[in-house]
Amino acid sequence: MKTLTDLEIASKAKMQPIEKIAEKAGIPIDALELYGKFKAKINVDLIPKETNQAKVVLVTATSPTPAGEGKSTVTVGLGDALSRLGKKTMVALREPSLGPVMGVKGGATGGGFSQVVPMEDINLHFTGDLHAITTVNNALSAMIDNHLHQGNLLNIDPRRITWKRVMDMNDRALRHITIGLGGPAQGVPREEGFDITVASEIMAVFCLATDLSDLKERLAQIVIGYTYEKEAITVRDLGVEGALTLLLKDAFKPNLVQTIEGTPALIHGGPFANIAHGCNSLIATNTARNLADFVVTEAGFGSDLGAEKFMDIKARKGNFQPDAVVLVTTIRALKMQGGVAKQELKSENSSAVELGLVNLEKHVETIRAFGVQPVVALNHFIGDSESELQKVQQWCKTNAVKIALTNVWKDGGAGGEELAKEVLKALDEPNEFAPIYDVEQSVEEKVTAIVQKVYGGLGVLFTDQALKDLAEIQKNGWDLLPVCMAKTQYSFSDDPKKLGRPTDFMITIRSILPKLGAGFLVCLTGDIMTMPGLPKQPAALKMDIDEDGKAKGLM
Ligand code: ADP
Repeated sequence: MKTLTDLEIASKAKMQPIEKIAEKAGIPIDALELYGKFKAKINVDLIPKETNQAKVVLVTATSPTPAGEGKSTVTVGLGDALSRLGKKTMVALREPSLGPVMGVKGGATGGGFSQVVPMEDINLHFTGDLHAITTVNNALSAMIDNHLHQGNLLNIDPRRITWKRVMDMNDRALRHITIGLGGPAQGVPREEGFDITVASEIMAVFCLATDLSDLKERLAQIVIGYTYEKEAITVRDLGVEGALTLLLKDAFKPNLVQTIEGTPALIHGGPFANIAHGCNSLIATNTARNLADFVVTEAGFGSDLGAEKFMDIKARKGNFQPDAVVLVTTIRALKMQGGVAKQELKSENSSAVELGLVNLEKHVETIRAFGVQPVVALNHFIGDSESELQKVQQWCKTNAVKIALTNVWKDGGAGGEELAKEVLKALDEPNEFAPIYDVEQSVEEKVTAIVQKVYGGLGVLFTDQALKDLAEIQKNGWDLLPVCMAKTQYSFSDDPKKLGRPTDFMITIRSILPKLGAGFLVCLTGDIMTMPGLPKQPAALKMDIDEDGKAKGLM
């Protein structure tokens, strides 16, 4: 029997008018700003503020394969399962970036019968938020270059401008460019480069701001570069924080959609978790916390990346905590961590699963290091063998780790009820959540805590450039901020080839970028890029649209 693609399943879904979903979520009709029949933005000022806020369930994963292990799928399926059990639930997810949609990974709307819809709109341009963020970022770039051209009153050193242009696409040719060529009328020549939008500080600010005034204040604090005397220049110095906030006024409102089974879902903001902080907007999470009794939300890649940042950056900023953590794993991810090559992942190999279990073990320990007991969601794929599945189930039993076999991809919410019941049990147990470091610690201490407690490594090495950056950060008094690690998602270490559970490694920090608007310091490790490239066979090659306007090949 032919399996339906995610797009085919999503296109057959019977969507309810978005007003009905809003009613179910307790959103007053006046607070809805309609974007067609099935999408709406929400004016959060018109949402009742509950004092008894929802329980937050964070979905994370073990170290993934390039295709992803089903975090979004399980987030949606768990949301639907909780709804089926009669719990007032909301799902909160990130907005997809067109880079992975056109590249290798595909979209970010879940999969099979656990998806948010309208899938094709959400994966393409949705309500335009990513375009607005791109525009705001590039408007700031235009203001900076205009300032240089118009006489440079602030004395900005064009060689020390750290602000980069962005676009929402993987485009390696734009990583290093020269602008302003062609003579005095074309501006001041300087080196420039593009990042992908989801790595931009505007995205981070957007996702961590609590309201419009906080958004404006954070935008004002962004450092765009330095003067010839090496004094920091901020957006406030340029006087454009008002204009930038104005450009974000609609984008900043959370987007309401629905799952295939009609559970309300907020999809808002979308930083990557390897090069940025990896969680949907705080304003969407807070809105969901006010409306529902249970919020199921996801943080990108494995627990070493998105979950760490969720707990150390987002939860700290938002003054809340994850009440339960679901750790998604798959047989294919464990086989890969057990040393099986990508093209062999479909063949049965219980001994490779067994070898890969050390990766699961470390992710469990990492979540426990934050004082939370994870529930493992073993995301069932059709080709998984009974003996492979049993290896994981047996390991969890031996190590007193809660586990549920999860069939949400195949069966929607019904396939997630066992997981939902385990999560509800976990929510009833005491939770001693605490971030892994204290912001008052030195940068070296904070990074060392992450490397040792979250990654299981030995310690940290700083390159000469990183030491120079650190000295500058200390001189300016910016060292009391949380850190946001930019690291590969494929390994606990900074080397994507070190699989399983490496222990004898050091993490090398090659540069530290102060992001004062976002309120964290980005530590770049390994050769992680803030502008990815497309693969040899991009997903775009399979996409098309027929004469009736129906999308094909989106995944
Ligand atoms: P993540 O959020 O971890 O990146 P996704 O939920 O986006 O992962 O899923 C990645 C891809 O894997 C999607 O195309 C989805 O349809 C597919 N997928 C997820 N779970 C299953 C499953 N159990 N069986 C088959 N395909 C799955």
